[in-house]
Amino acid sequence: MLPMNAVASVGDADELLFADDGQENQEIVRAAWRVLIVDDEPDVHRATTFALAGVTILNQTLEFLHAYSAAEAIDLLKKEDDIAVVLLDVVMEREHAGLDLVKTIRNELQLPDVRIILRTGQPGQAPEIETIHDYDINDYKTKSELTRTKLFATITSALRAYRQIRALDELAFYDRLSRLPNRNRFVDLINEQLQHKEVGNQMIAILDVDDFSEVNDALGHQQGDRLLLAVSERLRNNLGAGAVLARIGGDTFGLMGNQDTLDPVGILALFREPFAVQDDSMVVTATLGLVRLSNVLGDGLDALKDANIALKRAKKNRRGDYVVFSNEMGFDIRERVRLLRGLRSAVDNDRLFIVYQPQINLRTGQPVGMEALLRWRDGDGGFVPPEQFIPLAETSGLIVVLGDWVLRTACHELNRLRSKGWSDLRMSVNVSLIQFRHPTFLDKLRAALQDTGIEPAKLELEITESVAMEDANFILETLTAIKALGVSIAIDDFGTGYSSLSQLRQLPVDRLKIDCVFVSELNQQVQGGHIANMVVELGRNLGMTIIAEGVEDELQAQTLLAMGCHEAQGFLYAQALPMPELEAWLRARGKPARG
Ligand code: C2E
Ligand code: CA
Ligand code: CA
Repeated sequence: MLPMNAVASVGDADELLFADDGQENQEIVRAAWRVLIVDDEPDVHRATTFALAGVTILNQTLEFLHAYSAAEAIDLLKKEDDIAVVLLDVVMEREHAGLDLVKTIRNELQLPDVRIILRTGQPGQAPEIETIHDYDINDYKTKSELTRTKLFATITSALRAYRQIRALDELAFYDRLSRLPNRNRFVDLINEQLQHKEVGNQMIAILDVDDFSEVNDALGHQQGDRLLLAVSERLRNNLGAGAVLARIGGDTFGLMGNQDTLDPVGILALFREPFAVQDDSMVVTATLGLVRLSNVLGDGLDALKDANIALKRAKKNRRGDYVVFSNEMGFDIRERVRLLRGLRSAVDNDRLFIVYQPQINLRTGQPVGMEALLRWRDGDGGFVPPEQFIPLAETSGLIVVLGDWVLRTACHELNRLRSKGWSDLRMSVNVSLIQFRHPTFLDKLRAALQDTGIEPAKLELEITESVAMEDANFILETLTAIKALGVSIAIDDFGTGYSSLSQLRQLPVDRLKIDCVFVSELNQQVQGGHIANMVVELGRNLGMTIIAEGVEDELQAQTLLAMGCHEAQGFLYAQALPMPELEAWLRARGKPARG
């Protein structure tokens, strides 16, 4: 994992870094990419460093490390951080020494990020394709091919990939504003703690800054950000070294430590002094929800849920106070039971229906397809938002029948659109993990295709990034089976889950969907550049199409187009529409309907 003070080198590599050892003595250094040369011939080392002497790649110089055997290389890789590229001789002491070292790097040393370039003496010694694929080897070249120009190009592309991977790691696990671990990482850390047999007096807390959105609205985002930084700074300085501090939401922090460190009275007392925010000093209060880890049934996410229940209680009582979770707080359960009953009866009474949101080609503005989205109209004519009933349908298992119904209906509607002359459109259907894991999923998919006779490539399944990164083998197998049917696959909410690039590149994915959070930040300046940009670059490098969701204004659309994003959907073009309105919308876009 990235050390907190090294993350600045990721993504914005062209910036000068502060070597952050100690508060004083900050020395400005230009970061260098670390390249490890592994070869038993000293000449190769000399020739390589000579060829690359003084070059700058992606705004950084190169620093070389040298190993003359596999054992030396392993030592160095264990000892040294941040090695970006390994230039590796395939044949050293033994015929397979190089390939064995690759396996050690990936499997034993667990270094998935480092890019590996294999070099062989003669063309005939090419390692099998599978090895290259299985061990995520960037490139492989014969030594004679490695002229200065080729070497430069090869290392540049390896470094570009490395930078993307690290940026992705950072994105997945660190908050960009505070550089603190984010929610994903916090959950991981709780899980690690829970795995210890002795959780003893460990606790976690969620700290919510009271009325933060008012501060934000009144003084602007920038001032809001500064306040959050001041709060995180004070927490970090006062919690002591044994505690974990994370930013788990806009204005919420996650804390973990023993019960003395997480003494709620002491923590709330930290908010008595005003915070210095630029020239202002601001007084804010905070509310805390806590839970003892020994009380938690389940995993890190459950711990967080419990702390959140306590937090809600505390807020209801009085802001600026705290509540420790107790098991009697099984609140909400009655509410959930009521909602689930409602959902079951909605299924029975046809109060569920599907709306379709158009997707367009950003360059031409022409429709390319639509996403099917489920709606629930409750008895009083109002709507229950999907964010509420989908999770409920998932935990109750109802999503399996519901999802199957959505899939069939969407295929059927696509077929109908085709018969009316819209034969090029694609239909995207959301598939949740529970559905995906269900043993009959593939059969149902096959049946839906057969019964409606649609062209499989015109159907796309959207799985969320967190699903894509689940149990790797299972997912790979299922996705491969889906692809074998000709159906295409998109990764939804990309940028919000835990992605590992090496995993992503192995998955047969056609499209990445940039989450709307990253689209909405396009109208702001953000430190380190826009995530959307990185996703576009990443997807394009992997040969995927990129679609942005939640596009609400022209500026966002233009920015995305300039970044190289292919497609978009969002309120700028249309909301999700009932089928008759979708047809009217399509007609208005000039595609004549046949018949
Ligand atoms: P999602 O798949 O990320 O869907 C995109 C959501 O963004 C939709 O919300 C859509 O109405 C909304 N949206 C579209 N354009 C814009 C825009 O320009 N601005 C903003 N602010 N929002 C926009 P919706 O329909 O409420 O769906 C919410 C979530 O519910 C979906 O997120 C999806 O995860 C889930 N969902 C909906 N239908 C299904 C379904 O049939 N099966 C499954 N498994 N999940 C579904
Ligand atoms: Ca979706
Ligand atoms: Ca989404």
